[in-house]
Amino acid sequence: MSLTAAHKALLGKRILTNANHDSFSVTNPANGEILCHVHNAGSKETLKAIDAAHAAFTDWGQKPQKVRSDILKKWFALILEHTEDLAQIVTLEQGRAIRETRGEVAYGAGFVEWFAEEGRRAYGRTIPANVPGKQLVTIQQPVGVVAAITPWNFPISMITRKVAPALSAGCTVVLKPSEETPLSALALAELARQAGLPDGVLHIICTTKAAEVGEILTSDPLVKKFSFTGSTPVGKKLYAQCASTIKKISLELGGNAPVLVFDDADLDVAVAGAMLSKYRNAGQTCVCANRILVQAGIFDAFAAKLTKAARALTLADGMAEETAIGPLINQKAVDKVDALVKDATAKGAKLTVGGGVDAALGPLFYKPSVLTGVTHDMRIFNEEIFGPVASLIKFKDEAEGIKLANDTPFGLAAYAFTKDVSRAWRVGRALDYGMVGLNDGVMSTEVAPFGGVKESGIGREGAIEGLEEYMETKFLSFGAL
Ligand code: ADP
Repeated sequence: MSLTAAHKALLGKRILTNANHDSFSVTNPANGEILCHVHNAGSKETLKAIDAAHAAFTDWGQKPQKVRSDILKKWFALILEHTEDLAQIVTLEQGRAIRETRGEVAYGAGFVEWFAEEGRRAYGRTIPANVPGKQLVTIQQPVGVVAAITPWNFPISMITRKVAPALSAGCTVVLKPSEETPLSALALAELARQAGLPDGVLHIICTTKAAEVGEILTSDPLVKKFSFTGSTPVGKKLYAQCASTIKKISLELGGNAPVLVFDDADLDVAVAGAMLSKYRNAGQTCVCANRILVQAGIFDAFAAKLTKAARALTLADGMAEETAIGPLINQKAVDKVDALVKDATAKGAKLTVGGGVDAALGPLFYKPSVLTGVTHDMRIFNEEIFGPVASLIKFKDEAEGIKLANDTPFGLAAYAFTKDVSRAWRVGRALDYGMVGLNDGVMSTEVAPFGGVKESGIGREGAIEGLEEYMETKFLSFGAL
């Protein structure tokens, strides 16, 4: 499938039919076909966007919150109305199965609706004074111009969960989407325009010059807040760049999520949870199960059942309704997954299903796989897989399971499966992670705080916390009363 007239109507003038010296191409990972070309922005466009966002902030930031909320609600309705077109655009540029991308549109839209509502409750406080003749008050104010950089794995929701709270709070935004998935971002911005978002409030910088544009977004003094979702190495670099102007920051970085399956787990619940957590988006999410730690007593039964479920997953072009797993994003991703699996098998791990690419489908279709006998010395134990490979490790008891789970510099999401309520609490408290799913393989929602500890990031997205990231608390002290 190529881009339809309906898709092109959403993408507007920024996409070009023919390449020119100043454009880059967007390809479909399922078949390598070029979908379109996009103007390749650089420093000039970025600086102009920041200036325009700064100019627009005065008016947008001072509008009554209900005015901003009403526009966001219209945006939400338009996103839902265009679910099928948006889902197809995501599948075409990212590869993911269409039945999942429809869900991503709904999930992404959920942030817009939720922050339209929550922005209305951005209350301050009155604080009892500790001396006579004073009145102490706090108010919430938008931080100002926000710059954001987003990845390709959730090309709709990674944008809305930054942009919706920022706009609701009264900030203006300059956003650089991934060069792999600029079309979803352009379509979202067009729908925001149709919803009545004033000119200058939201800018999309499509570019392959990530470092050049990133340097400006993280150092320009007019930008007051920087929000990033992506890999830990890039996040560390951008964090350092933000230091020169002490920007308020949010970083949502890599993970190495453990799934603890205890002997007392409900086997069906544990397998279903691990499947969801592992194979969603072909394993390309930062909360995907990276190490499935299974207690010795249940190990064989769990491995057999997981293998059977993985074998039943349909690997095919994401546009087909029956597809469960589409292609990986690019050759680099396939090479990394392949190298991790080869390293593990060379050191003694065994594949119970899958392994390698299904060449008949194309070079990016990595087979859903399960590895048993994974140990600490293998790369796959320590590195983020970002592909459809389940890596199984055996442990003896609760203490060893927790120790293995925490044995990583990352701390985004963790999961545990047990029917024992006391154990669920104990383990939930002991895991050094920002989020813990207890008998739950999919936790992400707009109503709860998403984010990591350790080298997985700073700050939270979604929920009340996600709005606070875009506001400053100002303290007003009235004296001489
Ligand atoms: P991923 O492995 O998910 O592609 P990256 O961290 O490489 O993770 O990319 C996430 C986002 O960061 C993308 O939008 C990408 O263009 C951007 N990016 C990559 N390198 C840099 C950089 N040096 N400066 C700014 N942005 C960058």
